[in-house]
Amino acid sequence: MKISCAFDSGAIEVLSLEDPSNIRLRLRSDNAADFHQWFHFRLTGAAGKPVRMVFENAASAAYPEGWPDYRCVASYDRQNWFRIATTRYEDGALIVEHTPERDTLYYAYFEPYSHERHLDLVGRVEQSPYAQVRNLGSTVEGRDLDLIEVGRPSPRRVPLWIIARQHPGETMAEWFVEGLLERLLDGADAVARKVREHAVLYIVPNMNPDGAVRGNLRTNAAGCNLNRAWREPDAATSPEVLRVRSEMERTGCELFLDIHGDESLPYVFFSTAEEVPGYGAEALEAQARFIECFAAVSPDFQTHEGYKPGRFADELLTLASKWVAHRFGCVSLTLEMPFKDNANLPDGHVGWNGARSKRLGAAMLNPILRHLEAGRAG
Ligand code: ZN
Repeated sequence: MKISCAFDSGAIEVLSLEDPSNIRLRLRSDNAADFHQWFHFRLTGAAGKPVRMVFENAASAAYPEGWPDYRCVASYDRQNWFRIATTRYEDGALIVEHTPERDTLYYAYFEPYSHERHLDLVGRVEQSPYAQVRNLGSTVEGRDLDLIEVGRPSPRRVPLWIIARQHPGETMAEWFVEGLLERLLDGADAVARKVREHAVLYIVPNMNPDGAVRGNLRTNAAGCNLNRAWREPDAATSPEVLRVRSEMERTGCELFLDIHGDESLPYVFFSTAEEVPGYGAEALEAQARFIECFAAVSPDFQTHEGYKPGRFADELLTLASKWVAHRFGCVSLTLEMPFKDNANLPDGHVGWNGARSKRLGAAMLNPILRHLEAGRAG
């Protein structure tokens, strides 16, 4: 038997591999920070063997409340990912029991979204007559920070911003953007056509490509949690935020969406802007309209479960969507999707996954259009 993780977003530490019924593992921390929860590795040579893997440091993970009711994902072909029902959290350890049918398979915290897939997405978008790809500069480790611009700027077009994957382990965020982009660039889709007519969309599919490739959960290569860097971004430790923020200052922003995943809550929900100081009544009304419209078009989205008020305390304005709400006074939301499953529409085989995130991204065009039309009427 062998376990390896020397590939895109690979992450695990092996303590002991002698006995298939007691494989001892540790969740590996981000390269320059102490967060751990993401894992992605390949197991070979275990076909037909009942394997029991114990992640011994699960209790000290960034979100230990992410483990109860969590089920590990696995794939033989890296295309089709399924959940392993016999995953449990016991005495501070995550335990996965599984008998592989083949000699090679992959296990991960959630369906991965590779850097190669990111580059393929950007390349595909470049072929569209409605979009262009722009380079916003480099990440800490010199990767390209890609900005996709849909629609040509003009005074009658409203600037909208959508960013994803500030937290690199939240791969569902980039699956979401892929689904949104595919619909947005569809010449036959009436909603997409109207959105392109009324808006210029600035979309960053991956804010943190370094962290994504390294298999980090929450930080970039310099150990920075980008979603706590928006008040004072720094050229050395958070150039990704600095560059996006400067571009946003140049274009303006009339709607902002920041796409994430939540380890603990088994629901799709927004983190909203009412706690932002000075946030106006008009923006609150537009926010309510936006949320209502999204709930009407996507039964995966709900408004009953979410973060409690006061969660971010003093850090509030260091978060992207709160900083944007404060700076631009526009509708500015953080979308959270589950790592586990959507408890309102559970799927025993795949849980929440890439395909469902993509459909949710496509559905987001409806509230965007409604927002644009209300703005034009008002
Ligand atoms: Zn996040």
